[in-house]
Amino acid sequence: MEWSELEAKCAACHGCALWQTRTNLVFGTGSRTASLMFVGEAPGEQEDLSGIPFVGAAGQLLDKYLEAVGIAREEVYIANILKCRPPRNRDPLPEEQDACIGHLREQVKLIRPKMIVCLGRISAMRLIHPDYRITKEHGQMVKKGAFLLTAVYHPSALLRDASKKEDMYRDMKAIRDTLRTLEAAEPQA
Ligand code: SF4
Repeated sequence: MEWSELEAKCAACHGCALWQTRTNLVFGTGSRTASLMFVGEAPGEQEDLSGIPFVGAAGQLLDKYLEAVGIAREEVYIANILKCRPPRNRDPLPEEQDACIGHLREQVKLIRPKMIVCLGRISAMRLIHPDYRITKEHGQMVKKGAFLLTAVYHPSALLRDASKKEDMYRDMKAIRDTLRTLEAAEPQA
């Protein structure tokens, strides 16, 4: 599948009921040849209004961490498991995730990243393992197929609890170091 076909498929998707209440589809943004991909759970209010993932307060905090460790936002790709906003930012339902995960899989196939970083518990439970415990397992790297998977706290959790910020900074530095090692070992074509 090509990007244009996938974008059209998502735009026309009625796979769950969320297309009825969204303002905009939030497809994903960034480099389509990225070595590093971030995956959150679902768009929030600002994302729904703009059609761009991670642009609200949590997204701005993520940008600060990227900048702090020397990763440009344009260098990465950012998407969510759900492409449409759940009403009142409730957690995505399992059946909504089941309906939408195929779009994310197609994005991963097209991008072929070296590393995927789950933003928060829900993304990690879906992409790493179903009983993932973010407080215990954040920052741990898991090899899955052709790429490494890891998870960090969702930036909105850091907005609620500043005590997690030190762990986030440590994890982001480790992600950068691992990424640069992978890139050096196998430069992008
Ligand atoms: S959330 Fe995903 S599955 Fe549901 S309507 Fe939107 S694009 Fe389709």
